[in-house]
Amino acid sequence: MKVVLPDQTELELPDGATGLDAARAIGPKLAEQAVLVQADGRVQDLRLPLEDGQPIRFLTTRDKDDPDALYVLRHSAAHLLAEAVRRLYPGVKVAIGPPIENGFYYDFDFPEPIHEEDLERIQAEIERELAEGRTWEREEISRDQAKARFEAEGEPYKVELVDTAEGDISLYTQGDFTDLCRGPHLQNSKPIKALRLTGLAGAYWRGDSTKPQLTRIYGTAFYTQQDLEAHLERLEEARRRDHRVLGQRLDLFHLSEHSPGSPFWHPNGMVVWNELEDLRRRENRARGYSEVKTPLLYDVDTYVTSGHYENYRDNMFFVTSKESSERQFALKPMNCPGHMLLFGSDLRSYRDLPLRFAESSTLHRDELAGTLHGLLRVRHVTQDDAHIFCTREQIEQEIFGCLDFASYLYDLFGMEARFELSTRPEKKVGADEEWDFTEAALAAALDRRGIEYVVMAGEGAFYGPIQLDAIMPQRFGLTYMGADNSEHTPYVVHRALLGSLERFIGILIEHYGGAFPFWLAPVQVRVLPVGEAHLEAALRIVAPLRDAGYRVDVGEPTETIGKRIRRAELDKIPFVVVYGDRESEESLAIRERGGSQSQESLANFAARLATLGA
Ligand SMILES: [Zn+2]
Ligand SMILES: [Zn+2]
Repeated sequence: MKVVLPDQTELELPDGATGLDAARAIGPKLAEQAVLVQADGRVQDLRLPLEDGQPIRFLTTRDKDDPDALYVLRHSAAHLLAEAVRRLYPGVKVAIGPPIENGFYYDFDFPEPIHEEDLERIQAEIERELAEGRTWEREEISRDQAKARFEAEGEPYKVELVDTAEGDISLYTQGDFTDLCRGPHLQNSKPIKALRLTGLAGAYWRGDSTKPQLTRIYGTAFYTQQDLEAHLERLEEARRRDHRVLGQRLDLFHLSEHSPGSPFWHPNGMVVWNELEDLRRRENRARGYSEVKTPLLYDVDTYVTSGHYENYRDNMFFVTSKESSERQFALKPMNCPGHMLLFGSDLRSYRDLPLRFAESSTLHRDELAGTLHGLLRVRHVTQDDAHIFCTREQIEQEIFGCLDFASYLYDLFGMEARFELSTRPEKKVGADEEWDFTEAALAAALDRRGIEYVVMAGEGAFYGPIQLDAIMPQRFGLTYMGADNSEHTPYVVHRALLGSLERFIGILIEHYGGAFPFWLAPVQVRVLPVGEAHLEAALRIVAPLRDAGYRVDVGEPTETIGKRIRRAELDKIPFVVVYGDRESEESLAIRERGGSQSQESLANFAARLATLGA
């Protein structure tokens, strides 16, 4: 038979030849370095036979960044992990161990729970295996033989896997460990130049919470030590930017089991919060919004009217009143119903429109405990919410206004905006004609502004920073008196541009790596007197800066000046003023975050700060 190589030459092989046979026919070096063969574009174990006429290509240890090459390496690493664990923990049962993005894992049922510290011991055992060297043998057996084998070994998970496996059953053996596995695998462990166990987690067998809880050990492996180091470096960088880590280090907030998913904001975090609130208030005022405040608690009928009860009930917190056990209440998950009631509380004329109600209010959403994640997924949600009530003719102008507002915010935070237009969901409220109209109106507004966007068909559920709605005002029976002296239903634009403030601050922390711009920084300037003798003079420059509205603190000389400068860097403070023998109001030593230093007068420095607002 013949196979076709990437340069289109044909390679003559005996019938039934495997990938490895083909590699050997080309040369011993290739045979040694090959990790996989691609036959007809699909990856295949080197031990499997090729077919006549197939185009083939080899992946070798030199393809160290190729996802398929990494996949096979990490899959083999997972088997080494299982071998080590079985040797170290007699009685352990093995479940499954696939490669995943960036690494691999293996799930085990341990007789006694293990802990993070135990990973070191397992890591050492794997390193011993690597030093000894392992070779993988593949065999194919019948389903019954496989079952009998794993039953005899006391491996119930493997027995279950044999029962549900499709196609032929194959086993891979290295050292004293045989695994039920489809492959592919490396020929031997030589290409695994770096392997690191990275963590421990709980995982249910087959991802099913009614099944036994297993212990998942995570790891990763690479073709070179440098690649592992670069990977660990990237993980470390992500950890450094993680808003939960920075939130604690910068003393911004904490989370507690006393109220899951509801952040406790510390004074530093509250500064950021209030700056965003000030921004919201200032911009709303400039853009013609009126601030309102509506209750947190409504009777359930209100949510039946709004449609939330039908579609969003699972995410709501219900409350009963002692006076009327019949009448159930719920904490608001969104502001819309309150704003509808507010609009409906008075006679409205076309002359009142557009009417823009803004409210930054606390909302509660009953998210599953397992899905909560720092500030990014919370139960206590605060939105920079607004509802614009307008006529059909005013829709486009109002959407333009929201788009401008959004662009302003994205520019301010140096974020790149991407626009998506989500259309009617499958589980929708309201008639198709209304959806036709509102979808077309949004598309027209985007088109006319020359904004590029992606259509997300069926994604228009309750979320979305800008929503055009013809349905909810109808459900609440809202009307206004038109110029024609007859009643019309207003359209409503729902708009929450930052989304949830909790989530937005989480994103900002990671976006800036904790180094907030001057106007958001909890402490904007720290003054450091070099010694006790400089304290009084240093305090004299603090007062005028505080009077000008800046957040200034003083690093008292309880530690060396070097330590306090380092501390200010870790606190990511934008400006540090060092005050020693040579300094005076006419000449201050200013250290800017990021490294630049200057010597300038207090007046000069204050004038510079005045240019750094939002
Ligand atoms: Zn496997
Ligand atoms: Zn709304």
